[in-house]
Amino acid sequence: MRRQGTPEARPYWGIAGKEITMGLKVYINGELVDKENAKISVFDHGFLYGDGVFEGIRAYNGKVFKMKEHIDRLFDSAAAIELKAPIPREQYAAAIESTLKANNLRDAYIRAIVTRGIGTLGLNPRNCTGASVVIITDSIALYPKELYENGLSVITVSTIRNHPNALDPRIKSLNYLNNILAKIEGLNAGVEEAIMLNIQGYVAECTGDNIFIVKDGVPITPPLSAGILDGITRHTVMDLAAARGIMVREDNLTRYDLFTADECFLTGTAAELIPVVKIDGRLVADGKPGPTTLQLLADFRKLTRG
Ligand code: PMP
Repeated sequence: MRRQGTPEARPYWGIAGKEITMGLKVYINGELVDKENAKISVFDHGFLYGDGVFEGIRAYNGKVFKMKEHIDRLFDSAAAIELKAPIPREQYAAAIESTLKANNLRDAYIRAIVTRGIGTLGLNPRNCTGASVVIITDSIALYPKELYENGLSVITVSTIRNHPNALDPRIKSLNYLNNILAKIEGLNAGVEEAIMLNIQGYVAECTGDNIFIVKDGVPITPPLSAGILDGITRHTVMDLAAARGIMVREDNLTRYDLFTADECFLTGTAAELIPVVKIDGRLVADGKPGPTTLQLLADFRKLTRG
C-alpha cells in the first residue's frame, strides 16, 4: 500500500514504495522507539526550516553498502552548515547497525538524519538546544524489473539546480524543495525523474540521481563543479568502469550532448543504476539500453549482491 496520493498520482518510482513496516523500531537520540512513538518536536528546526542533513543508505544481505562514504558525506554536510552531530562517526555507524539488527533487516533502505534540534521560532540556530539524530530503517521497495530492462523516460525541466553559492548541492540538506519542484515538473509531464540544468545551462543532475551519458564508448558525467551531489553510486560506477579499463570522463554536458548521446543512465542509492531511453520525448539512440550501461548494471549487481 502506498502512503498517499490518488491512484493516478502514485508513482511506482520512489523510495516509499511500501507502508513502513509494522512493528518497526526507529532510532531517536540513542533510543530505539516503536515507529508509532517515533516523534520529533514541531520546534525542531529540521521541521521548521529544513535545517539539518541526511543520508539515504542501503544494506545488502546484512551489510551496509559504502557505510564509511555515507557517514563521511553526512558529517561533511553537517560541517558545511555548521552543525555538530552529537555522536562521533563510529558511534553513528554503530547506531545504524544496531537499528538494522533491532528490525531484523538484511536488505534495507536506511535514512540517517541529523537535525539542528529544538529551538525558537526564529532562524537563529544558536538558540537550538542541540542536534537530534534519527535513523529510520525500512524494507526496500524494489523498482519494477521492466524499468531496468526497458529504461526510463525523463525530461529536462525549467527548475534549475540550486546555485552552489546559495545552497551547495553537495550538502545533502533536509531542504529538498529545489528537487521537489523539479520532480513536480517531471510528474506533471508524466515522467518519474527529471534532469536539472545549472544556471549556465549545463546538465547538473536529476532530482534524486546523478546522470551519465555514453558517447563513442566513453561514459561522461557532469563534474562536481556543475553543482551536483557527490553521489556515492556515481563513484562506485566510475570504479566499476575503471576495473574494465574504461575511464569515465567528467565534463560539462549540454542538452545537445543528451540528445546526441549513444546511451544514458542514472545512478543513485535507491535506483542503483538505471538506463534512460527517452529524453524530452526523443529516443536515446535506438531507444534501448546500451551495451556499456548494461555491462555496468551487471557489474553493479554483482558487487552488491554477488
Ligand atoms: N543527486 C541527488 C540530488 C540525490 O538526492 C541523490 C540520492 N542521494 C543522488 C544524486 C545520488 O547519490 P547517491 O549515489 O550517493 O545515492
